Amino acid sequence: MSVLGEMFENFLSRPITILYPKEKVPIPAAFRGRVAIADDKCIGCSKCSLVCPAQVITMIDGPRDVEFKGKNLARKKRPQVKLFKCIRCGLCERHCPTGAIVLKNELSCSGTDGEIVLTE
Ligand code: SF4
Ligand code: SF4
Repeated sequence: MSVLGEMFENFLSRPITILYPKEKVPIPAAFRGRVAIADDKCIGCSKCSLVCPAQVITMIDGPRDVEFKGKNLARKKRPQVKLFKCIRCGLCERHCPTGAIVLKNELSCSGTDGEIVLTE
């Protein structure tokens, strides 16, 4: 097709781009978005913190009684994540024994303050 022909075809066709964020794009099921923690599921085992390659998970004080595999445990610590330093590798989610830490299906998550933390 000639350049002129292509120009006319594009002129008469609808744009292939979308008006994000006005229009939402479909998000794949395996998409790794913003990390989130369900504190009520967390037993404070520190596995997420140990496997995090970016070292953005710190265990902070979070005492609470928890139940795991039929046993009552006294949790001492809970994770705190430096949100914008997370590289979304998903290792914390893969290794968490209770499913307390997950990567959400959320597209928008950006910022410039690397010290912003997620605690819950
Ligand atoms: S997704 Fe990866 S980088 Fe982000 S908090 Fe989890 S283990 Fe760390
Ligand atoms: S979020 Fe999961 S891996 Fe991390 S401390 Fe809690 S239970 Fe353990």
